[in-house]
Amino acid sequence: MTTAVRTSPNPPAPADILAGEKTPTQMMLVKLFAVIPLLALAASIPVAWGWGLDWVDIGLAAFFYTLTCLGVTVGFHRYFTHGAFTANRPLRIALAAIGSMAMQGPIIGWVADHRRHHAFADREGDPHSPWLYGTSAGALAKGFWHAHMGWMFQRERTNAARFAPDLLADRDIMRVDRLFPLLTVVTLLAPALAGGLITWSWWGALTAFFWASLVRVAVLHHVTWSVNSICHMIGARPYTARDKSANFWPLAIASMGESWHNSHHADPTCARHGVGRGQIDVSARVIWIFERFGWVTKVRWPRAERFARKLRGTATA
Ligand SMILES: [Zn+2]
Ligand SMILES: [Zn+2]
Repeated sequence: MTTAVRTSPNPPAPADILAGEKTPTQMMLVKLFAVIPLLALAASIPVAWGWGLDWVDIGLAAFFYTLTCLGVTVGFHRYFTHGAFTANRPLRIALAAIGSMAMQGPIIGWVADHRRHHAFADREGDPHSPWLYGTSAGALAKGFWHAHMGWMFQRERTNAARFAPDLLADRDIMRVDRLFPLLTVVTLLAPALAGGLITWSWWGALTAFFWASLVRVAVLHHVTWSVNSICHMIGARPYTARDKSANFWPLAIASMGESWHNSHHADPTCARHGVGRGQIDVSARVIWIFERFGWVTKVRWPRAERFARKLRGTATA
């Protein structure tokens, strides 16, 4: 395996990448959001074989999973972080709100963290690199935990004024950012309400809350976090990148195309991550549909010569 081509030397992380610390309440909320859905997921396994799971729950869970996953992949990630296309105002607001319903934190902090990840990928200053502690088995286990979840429990906050000034200057996005607590309530209660109305029972509301709210949020959390952890550790690296990003095919469907992560780091503003033959990328297909409807313009579709230049072995950088 060849080492990644570096196009710049490793600069030390500048001092202004952080801005203050999370408050104790914010720290507690991050832990609650991460741990409670996880406990629900563990508890769900024996429950599944007994009682309290039917097609209504599965349908609602699949619907809210797909909706909120696309809010993150198409909205938070490809649009707001990387500007892979331009959206009209109603879609822009909708994507910000639906992405917020994934319970991965308010939009501005999410985007600032992710832009910082790309700016310092797998180097000092990256908020969630698995390579921070070294390459021994113990260091990698620690690094995996850090990249997957541990980084969220650290107190430092990414400096949004440096990494997301465009969003801080946008009144619509600031409003959605402030509405994060309300959107959290909506994402947890909407499935319960739907389950209750469809089955016309409190029991139906409760099981829908369990599967389509808690379990759905937990599964999407872990799929998203796996892009930060697994997709910087294991997989194919067809393109040169300045980091350890990798294409991990088993997560392509669940992550809606985000696990083609080596291709993404090779060309971050590209609207399609699965650029290879047969690489399924549901998010790119959704952007394509939006483009057909005329809701998005200036989509940055992959350019063959750009990727060809980055193929390993042909790079001249
Ligand atoms: Zn990455
Ligand atoms: Zn990215």
